[in-house]
Parts: sequence; structure tokens; C-alpha cells
Amino acid sequence: MKLTFEDLSSIILVIKSSEVEGMVMKRIVRAPAKINLGLDTPHAYARGVLEWKMVMISVDLADDLQIETTSANSHIQVFSDKGFLPEGNRNLAYQAARVFKHAAQIDDGITIHIQKRIPVSAGLGGGSSDAAAVLRTLNDMYQTNFSDRQLEELGLKIDSDVPYCVYGKPALVTGKGDQITPLQPLPACWLVIAKPGVSISTLKLLRSVKHDELSHPNIDALIAAIQTGNYEQMVANMGNALEAVAAKNHPEVNILKERMLKAGADGAQMSGSGPTVFGICRQLSRAKRVYNSISGFCREVYLVAPVGEGA
Ligand code: ATP
Repeated sequence: MKLTFEDLSSIILVIKSSEVEGMVMKRIVRAPAKINLGLDTPHAYARGVLEWKMVMISVDLADDLQIETTSANSHIQVFSDKGFLPEGNRNLAYQAARVFKHAAQIDDGITIHIQKRIPVSAGLGGGSSDAAAVLRTLNDMYQTNFSDRQLEELGLKIDSDVPYCVYGKPALVTGKGDQITPLQPLPACWLVIAKPGVSISTLKLLRSVKHDELSHPNIDALIAAIQTGNYEQMVANMGNALEAVAAKNHPEVNILKERMLKAGADGAQMSGSGPTVFGICRQLSRAKRVYNSISGFCREVYLVAPVGEGA
């Protein structure tokens, strides 16, 4: 076969572009927010390290991540649509890419664009979920076949909520955040999430905790209710040991809870280290009423459902 000048120049162009870009792979994935239906810390170790006993679920409020890899360089880059988020190695998505590259001995460059929808420093685990999405997606893209357990162990190097976010379905989370026990799917319900205009630093809040003054929710009763699909008992046994600590400096927490209950929520509680409050409803019509009554005076309000089918 005779090649024309045009054929040759297009072949050269393809070679040139693959030299510049190297081998490129791209994925777009969702990173859902987490909520604590139950949060307790049964034990404090030396130097303020806490043991956790938490019931966690994921909900359909999510960040979108575009993850692109290239063999043309070995840099990690993170960009987000929110100027106040760190874009270098202080971003948890960046840390996840670094931890993965090291564990999988991969030298490629990784670029991550985050479209942020989960409120930041809100007790919704947005950064941890981004990190978990990066670990899961890179594992899939490179077919490294790390097990969920191995990914959870990698996640724990980044933050105590990352192992749960790697799992992403209703679970009891204990130890340092690394012991994940799958739970049954939740009884059908809707959640109204409201983030007041303040943010809480988890680290600062945990430093201010006086462990022997905490009131502890009955996490075992909450688990029993979920395992038997008993919605009323599930709501009755929700609880967050950090809520009273956060509410001392942030009256918004109790104001939002009261408003949600008054508007018809079956239960209302702070998530994680706050300040986000969620109301839970069995009926969608009730959840819409709660949503409408809260959105009048709180800017960030979301009506969501749980995701992940559970054990
Ligand atoms: P947690 O309940 O796990 O403490 P949170 O919801 O309270 O999480 P995040 O939204 O994860 O808090 O943010 C906590 C801190 O992490 C903030 O200071 C934020 O700047 C930083 N951070 C780093 N990377 C990210 C990211 N990808 N998304 C959100 N925050 C990030």
C-alpha cells in the first residue's frame, strides 16, 4: 500500500499527541455525603484519641469528581469550583491519590476536578467521601484489585471517616473508624439536611470534649431497630454524643432541631461534629413541609434519601 503525504502527516500528528498526553484514562464519579444516625465515643485514650461507635448512612447529596490519569507525567493536581478549598496536598482527594500511587506503585500523573455540592466543615464527611471516591476509582481504573478491606486501610491513613465512605452503605463503625460492620438497609425514609451559616472544625470540637461529661446514646438499641426494620424505634434511638458540646457554642443547632420537629419531622439531630442538622420523615409529603419551613431562614437546605442497599 502506498501512503500519501496526508496519510504520513496524520500518523506523525497522532504519534506527537500521544507523546505529549501519554496514555490517558478518565472517569466521572459521585462522592455522597454521610450522616450519623448515631454517634458515640465510648472511650478516650491517652492524648485525646477517641474510640468511636457510630451508625452511618450515605445520602444522595454528592460531589462530582472528574479523575484523569496520564502516563506523560507523575504530578498530582486537584482543582475545585470552590475557591476556599485547599487544592494542594491539604486536599483529602490529593492525599488519596498519593496514598494510592504509593500502595499500587504507580507513577502516572493524576488530575482531579471536584464539583463541590456537599457543604464543607459541616459534619457531612465531604472531604472523606471525595478521598474514598478517588481510592475506589483508581483501584478500578488500574485494575489493582485491592479488596474493600485494603482500600479501607488505605483510607484510614487519610481520615477516620474514609473507611466508612469507601464502604458507603448503612454500617456500624467502631474503633478508630476502621471497623465496619454492615447493617440492613434502612426502613424507607426521607431526610431534610440543613447547614447553618457557621462551620465547625472537627479537631477543635474534639479537643474541647470532656469525655466523662458526655451523655451516651443507646447505639445498640439503634442497631437493633435497623436490623428489624423498625422505623419508630430507629428514630427514637438516634443520638449524637457531640451534639450538646457543639450546641453550647452554636445555638443554631437547637433552633434548627426545634423548627424541624415543629414542622413535622419524626426526629431531628446533628450529624457528626456539626453544625449540620437533619430531620427524618417517613412520608415524602412531610419531608417537603419540613424542607419548605426551613428553607425560609436557612440558605443551605437539601431534601435527600439514603443511598446504598446495606447488608
Ligand atoms: P468530618 O465529619 O469527617 O470531620 P466535615 O464534613 O466536618 O467532615 P469536610 O467537609 O470533610 O468536613 O472538611 C473538613 C476540612 O477538610 C476542611 O477544613 C476542608 O478545608 C478540608 N478539606 C480538604 N479536602 C477537602 C475536600 N476534598 N472536600 C472538603 N473539604 C476538604
